Amino acid sequence: MRRIRAVGRVLPFRVNNYVVNELIDWDNVPEDPIFQLTFPQPNMLSEGNLSRLLDMDHAGKSIAAVDREVSRIQREMNPHPARQMELNVPVMDGRRLEGLQHKYKETVLVFPRQGQTCHAFCTYCFRWAQFCGIEKLHFACNDPLVLPRYLKAHPEVTDVLFTGGDPMVMRAKVLRPYIDALRGLGTDHPLTIRFGTKALAYWPYRFLTDRDAGELMELFEDIAALGHQPAIMAHFSHDRELETPAVEQAMRRLQSAGAVIRCQGPLVRHVNDDAGTWARMWRRQVRLGAIPYYMFVARNTGPKAYFRVPLAQTYRIFSEAYGQVSGLCRTVRGPSMSATPGKIAVQGIAELLSEKVFVLKFIQGRDPSWVNRVFFARYAPDAAWFDELEPALGDKKFFFESGLDRITAEKAMDLVPPPRALSGMNDRIGSGTLLRWVH
Ligand SMILES: *Cc1c(COP(=O)(O)O)cnc(C)c1O
Ligand code: SF4
Repeated sequence: MRRIRAVGRVLPFRVNNYVVNELIDWDNVPEDPIFQLTFPQPNMLSEGNLSRLLDMDHAGKSIAAVDREVSRIQREMNPHPARQMELNVPVMDGRRLEGLQHKYKETVLVFPRQGQTCHAFCTYCFRWAQFCGIEKLHFACNDPLVLPRYLKAHPEVTDVLFTGGDPMVMRAKVLRPYIDALRGLGTDHPLTIRFGTKALAYWPYRFLTDRDAGELMELFEDIAALGHQPAIMAHFSHDRELETPAVEQAMRRLQSAGAVIRCQGPLVRHVNDDAGTWARMWRRQVRLGAIPYYMFVARNTGPKAYFRVPLAQTYRIFSEAYGQVSGLCRTVRGPSMSATPGKIAVQGIAELLSEKVFVLKFIQGRDPSWVNRVFFARYAPDAAWFDELEPALGDKKFFFESGLDRITAEKAMDLVPPPRALSGMNDRIGSGTLLRWVH
């Protein structure tokens, strides 16, 4: 337990009684997948880092000294994967719109400030840095009016994705102004309003017995009444999360409020690195009227060594699971890496001109012309993330690399402040306290 506590200083830790009493099988601890999913494990830190923390604790070192060591270890663990801060925050009139991200043309992400936590924390979380405070909440949004203003200038956007953390930790009355603010858009800009959430897995009572569960359902109904489509992007990691009576009732209730539920999650060692789990998960989702959507490759952040599954093995598990289910489950796509240039799926392992290669495909691209394009990387049996791959067939660069450099350079240009005559005049738009200059 001392060891788990030490790891818990470095990585965020939160569970609730539903996870503890209804999901974890305590006869099977520590191997139990839901225990692994939510409780920090000693081996999530390197042996050196763990023993240094335990020694400091033993020697009665000051809290400040331990904290310094903890933050050194955290910084070692790639807290900001895929350069999202740099490249995804949109710029309007020379200002960064903190709290929005716009990476793919059709979809804008919104990070409402009050949604930047979760009902329980996943040990593999890619947002772990913000939960333990090393990343300030500077990319959260506090002003519901920013979104409609941005959407007016961007008619190409068809999807808004509320994300976090988990926007379903928010009270309905805090979420409502974000939806009400969209009324001004009128009916000629219909949207799919998505909510990325793990509440169905970690706290299905959010949709059933929480005091404002009814109010939340009304919010979904109102989204539909405004001519938009409410959608739940449900994060599930294991079929057990889909088995309780509560999750089944919660899904039914969301569906009767008009929401479509799509399911996604990463494949990680110790939690779900076997085909049976995925096949059961997809079948159960379809049985509950939901749509399997993405299988992700776990990001290269946090305790990645602990969760690491090589791409080749992930691809084999995906294929084996895919082969066991009916076509209704095969709406799932993946395994997909959310990398800097886009979502890249491993589509196969093949031999081409006597070179063994990964067949890769952009299923989302920072540049829309990359989407659906197939390309190749040299086969590497141990590679577990896109950064670890090299172009195949003697190429020096992947086809998109110069384009990505151009996009990066343009992004930097966007941030050049407008001429001095204008600056200061409009450094606040309305109540947009989160819109600020970046120098
Ligand atoms: C995955 C993702 C989306 C949504 O992509 P879809 O393929 O439309 O589901 C949007 N923005 C970012 C940054 C994403 O990672
Ligand atoms: S639900 Fe998502 S944001 Fe929340 S802890 Fe899990 S991975 Fe992180």
